[in-house]
Amino acid sequence: MNGFDLTGRVALVTGSSRGIGNVLADGLAAAGATVVLNGLDPARLARARAELADKYGEDHVDAVGFDVTDPDAVAAGVAEVESRIGPVRILVNNAGVQHRVPMLDLAPEDWDRVVRTDLTSAFLVGREVARHMIDRGTGKIVNICSVQSELARPTIAAYTAAKGGLRNLTRAMTAEWARHGIQANALAPGYIHTEMTQNLVDDDAFHSWVVGRTPAARWGTPADLVGPAVWLASDGSDYVNGQVIYVDGGMTVVV
Ligand code: NDP
Repeated sequence: MNGFDLTGRVALVTGSSRGIGNVLADGLAAAGATVVLNGLDPARLARARAELADKYGEDHVDAVGFDVTDPDAVAAGVAEVESRIGPVRILVNNAGVQHRVPMLDLAPEDWDRVVRTDLTSAFLVGREVARHMIDRGTGKIVNICSVQSELARPTIAAYTAAKGGLRNLTRAMTAEWARHGIQANALAPGYIHTEMTQNLVDDDAFHSWVVGRTPAARWGTPADLVGPAVWLASDGSDYVNGQVIYVDGGMTVVV
């Protein structure tokens, strides 16, 4: 199992005060990493930090809150992680938002907010962290994509465009940074039961559609993403570059 050991490695997970990011941070900590949580709401972030610190110890869990869409805040946040906590060896670009409305009714400011949070943030945080990783000649970047990186559905145009862009940003990171020892890959979750999707789980018609449309015949859980995330964060994936790994119960391989 040594190829999957993350002991002593600093892992920054954006948007990890709740949901998928929080479970990924927990999984990386369980594999030995020192995790740095991130989010917008300071109280929620502090609670998340305290909960994980109870499990893994104060020395293994930290938090740096910053807005991943704000270039100055990103630069300051990454500088703080590097100087106060340690060299970022693993970055998970997970922060994201959804906005469901028919495209004809989609306000430009909502389009911008979704694209900035789900796509531009990975460029901003990725670039800032990569500057340090390139100096050190090693690093792992895991971008959280979606089945909507490949497929569209009505009412989520901005999200689909952003997540498709994130797939290709993963390839652009690979084209420029792989030679510096950085492996940039993406995890693409299928329908995962979190706060973001609670309203869909509660909608009987949508719930039946997901279960019927997914070969595994169930919603995913954030825990389903942990094994693939640890793999992509570890030495076990050192020659895996620019790939999108679908963790979707088979949804994207059937019609
Ligand atoms: P949640 O809504 O549960 O959590 C979102 C997290 O992102 C929170 O920690 C939130 O912080 C943080 N966040 C939002 N905006 C910002 C920002 N500007 N700066 C910093 N942090 C921010 O989301 P999920 O866990 O459901 O989703 C996580 C990722 O997984 C997203 O990229 C999403 O697109 C992707 N995904 C989710 C799927 C699902 O079924 N749930 C399926 C496929 C992909 P705060 O608490 O402070 O608001």
